[in-house]
Amino acid sequence: IEANFSAIQEDDGPINGLITVLHDVTEKEKIEGERREFVANVSHELRTPLTTMKSYLEALADGAMTDEEIAPHFLNVTQKETDRMIRLVNDLLQLSKIDSKDYRLDMQWVELGAFVHSIVERFEMIVKDKNIYFHRHIVKQPTYAKLDADKLTQVLDNIISNAIKYSPSGGNVTVTLLHQGNKARISIADEGMGIPPESQERIFERFYRVDKARARNVGGTGLGLAIAREYVQAHDGEIWVHSEYNEGTTIYVTLPYSTFKGGKV
Ligand code: ADP
Repeated sequence: IEANFSAIQEDDGPINGLITVLHDVTEKEKIEGERREFVANVSHELRTPLTTMKSYLEALADGAMTDEEIAPHFLNVTQKETDRMIRLVNDLLQLSKIDSKDYRLDMQWVELGAFVHSIVERFEMIVKDKNIYFHRHIVKQPTYAKLDADKLTQVLDNIISNAIKYSPSGGNVTVTLLHQGNKARISIADEGMGIPPESQERIFERFYRVDKARARNVGGTGLGLAIAREYVQAHDGEIWVHSEYNEGTTIYVTLPYSTFKGGKV
């Protein structure tokens, strides 16, 4: 609490009162604290790949460059780190646009069944040699939603890439679309290591990771689910997680829908 005192006094007369104005500074401090933490996180996230790149480049300069076996491997590491930094900066720019409401949703009617099919199909092509099996359960009835297809593609991409990243070899990833009351519900279930209960609420926070080292190893930025949550909420939808530690994780996304194009959602 911040307090300002002013005396009530006419000219040089006696002081006959005091006005006290109390400000609640806790909210202000909280926002300031969050901002500081965010900047610290960003700096740290950028410093880590930069430090790695620096040491690999130094090793290359110190002679590794002429070693035909080591050189390609070292170059590969620096390329991977550069890619991750680009992803990180792109994600940050997106979040900054979201925060300043500097974006527009390009809403179009989309049939969600076909939409989900096409996204899963694309992933099936990508993971061919990764030993992950996709399954789809798509409701038979038409499911029309008015949405920004690019943004929602990104939401599902982020969730499905996580399912793949955190899946064991030979794991199943099941994508389901069904009708639940007046909402269409998409779920992505994997058989990965799961998320401990105390972390489940937090995975949608910016930069929150259950296991930082592991998440970085698999190339994550820690922002994928934060972006997903922003976009889902911008579509009047909800997103949540259900996970059993060591058994698997399911991410749910609900959206308003209609059984016909142009219907009330
Ligand atoms: P990242 O880029 O690190 O994957 P996300 O925002 O996409 O960032 O996810 C945040 C964290 O949530 C991850 O680092 C991971 O710890 C956890 N997580 C997300 N999806 C899964 C999943 N399917 N299985 C296990 N853990 C997950």
